[in-house]
Amino acid sequence: MNFKDYIRVIPDYPQPGIRFKDITTLTNNGEVYKAAIESLRQAVADKDIDLIAGPEARGFIVGAPLAVALGVGFVPIRKSGKLPGEVVEASYDLEYGKDKLAIHKDAIKPGQRVLIADDLLATGGTISTTINLIRQLGGEVVGSAFLIELSYLDGREKLEGIDTFSLVTY
Ligand code: 5GP
Repeated sequence: MNFKDYIRVIPDYPQPGIRFKDITTLTNNGEVYKAAIESLRQAVADKDIDLIAGPEARGFIVGAPLAVALGVGFVPIRKSGKLPGEVVEASYDLEYGKDKLAIHKDAIKPGQRVLIADDLLATGGTISTTINLIRQLGGEVVGSAFLIELSYLDGREKLEGIDTFSLVTY
């Protein structure tokens, strides 16, 4: 299946000059969504994963079904202020200013093997921050999996030493 055929490219969103990759045209097709998750599952099946972690919001759309397909738990990574329990947080740079991601303190036990899932790897800022949070809790990041990788933004360079898989590359 050519997954790229189901990804809609929207010019000038959210800003002029950006060509946004819209995954909703892939995920509203049940057969294609299922095949995409199954391809990710096969790619990571040998990693002996304890947990999938996914950053809000599109990381939930990829990470939660992948966790169910693997029969492992799912850990949500959220923007600061959204999780009800005790959290650890990490800041990351945006184009203008900073933002913070958070994880529940008890979501990962030391030594647990965690795979990160998200819809898209761009500069790698979101994933680097997610890695930081998992490591603060003593988790071992055993890989990362994406529907889409924008290879011209070199996000993969920030993931050195972490096995990274993407279904579709631009
Ligand atoms: P990064 O932190 O790697 O620069 O950006 C990746 C994050 O931004 C992901 O969480 C992703 O959801 C979002 N993102 C950035 N550009 C796009 C895009 O073109 N399409 C989609 N679907 N998400 C994007």
